[in-house]
Amino acid sequence: MSKYCPSCGEELVDNAKFCKNCGKNLENIENPQDVNTSQSFQVPVVENDHKAAVIVGYVLAVLIPLFGFIVGIYLITRNDSQNAKKHGKYVIIVAAIVWFISFMLIR
Ligand SMILES: [Zn+2]
Repeated sequence: MSKYCPSCGEELVDNAKFCKNCGKNLENIENPQDVNTSQSFQVPVVENDHKAAVIVGYVLAVLIPLFGFIVGIYLITRNDSQNAKKHGKYVIIVAAIVWFISFMLIR
């Protein structure tokens, strides 16, 4: 008897607690009333919010805007993380502002 991940459709072992493909928590699937609450504790389990890249992106955006742009583009192309996409836009905006200001100061 096989189960399938409700999130990504990956075939699962019978007693799987997490989907090995997408990381979805599977423990509460038999209890639909608990599915809504699974979202909140799923966040620390799924380590794909690219937090380190977001921080590096902001730092580079201020210090070296060109590299900030590159990290920002990297972040907005992460399809597994809304968080990365959101911060990627901000990183690019910050880099653009810093770049503009430094350009004005140099002249
Ligand atoms: Zn899955």
